Amino acid sequence: MSANGSNGILDHEELVVRRGDRSGAYIAIGIHSTALGPALGGARLWRYPGLGDAIADALRLSEAMTFKAAAAGLDLGGGKAVILEPEGGLAGEDRVELMRDLGDVVESLAGRYVTAEDVGTGAEDMAAIAERTSHVVGLPEDRGGSGDPSPVTARGVEAAIRASCERRFGDRDPSGRRVCVIGLGHVGAKLAERLARAGAELVVSDIDPGKRELAERLGARWVGPTEAIASECEVLAPCALGGAIDERAVGELRCEVVCGAANNVLAGDEIAPRLHERGILYAPDFIANAGGLINVYGELHGLDAGALESLIDGIGDALATIFERAEAGSVTPLEAARAVARERLGGAQPQPEPATLAA
Ligand code: NAD
Repeated sequence: MSANGSNGILDHEELVVRRGDRSGAYIAIGIHSTALGPALGGARLWRYPGLGDAIADALRLSEAMTFKAAAAGLDLGGGKAVILEPEGGLAGEDRVELMRDLGDVVESLAGRYVTAEDVGTGAEDMAAIAERTSHVVGLPEDRGGSGDPSPVTARGVEAAIRASCERRFGDRDPSGRRVCVIGLGHVGAKLAERLARAGAELVVSDIDPGKRELAERLGARWVGPTEAIASECEVLAPCALGGAIDERAVGELRCEVVCGAANNVLAGDEIAPRLHERGILYAPDFIANAGGLINVYGELHGLDAGALESLIDGIGDALATIFERAEAGSVTPLEAARAVARERLGGAQPQPEPATLAA
């Protein structure tokens, strides 16, 4: 079974592979589903070993977007664009030309796919894409876009932490709870600031020693990156790279809740039942970090700040429902989250019954 719950069958609606007229670079766009709305997903610029790897990534990531949007309750489908970065990289006008090429491919899909920023691309790239298509979000704020999504993502992760605390400790207030934030990047730094304001007892870590300054400013205890995962805390909030919780790490954890921003934080699906066996509550990453997607959804639909904030804070309610369903069905929260997504997708992707958990 793939990371998102399908059976590895290629069930995408559309796959487009084109070579840019201007740049000569290969562009692959996967549209997994438009069942709930236009397929929205970022454009990834990456030096893949070959075109096949780029296409495989577009298919995998677009499917993940379908589940993320569906589980978060958004009227969006799942898509992703992947650009095979040419040898020698790209800068200046060459990069702008490449983005115009991508804009042309997006435009040819007539709104079935809406692009945004992702790994390797940023708001300025979106502005270049916008020269060729209107089906783009994540534009710079001075161009009427929603700008950097990280503060919104951090707000959503805080809502998820509150819901997790409610479930685990019967009290959603993070005040006085020891929370370990791993990775003080765009999202982690904002999350740490929010939690400090909320009165949490913070433990923080980053591979970049320059982040110690922030730790000091927030009155947080600093731990080295190798010790961070095993920090004794109530909530572990991984906000760095994916795969942080693998088979070895799961045995070392000394937390009661795992809830952070990092995408694909579990090294594999088999880790979710292992967390349950250890009595650790896991907030599925694609629910906890949905704020970034909600941010661009807000831009797409012209939502005002109030409407956007209530959608973000709704992440906590969505998670609470997932925890309840997990308990009622004796499945992990990860399985319960996928079940919610599949239901919203109208049962379009029949699944085998998940193995039930030992109580
Ligand atoms: P970022 O690159 O700004 O920050 C990552 C931070 O983690 C950096 O400070 C880096 O030094 C640190 N780091 C890397 N490896 C580490 C390790 N082993 N131990 C401790 N620190 C380590 O990225 P970001 O935008 O803050 O995103 C963080 C995570 O959240 C990513 O997994 C991303 O995919 C996910 N995410 C981000 C958003 C968003 O709005 N930016 C939205 C959804 C999901």
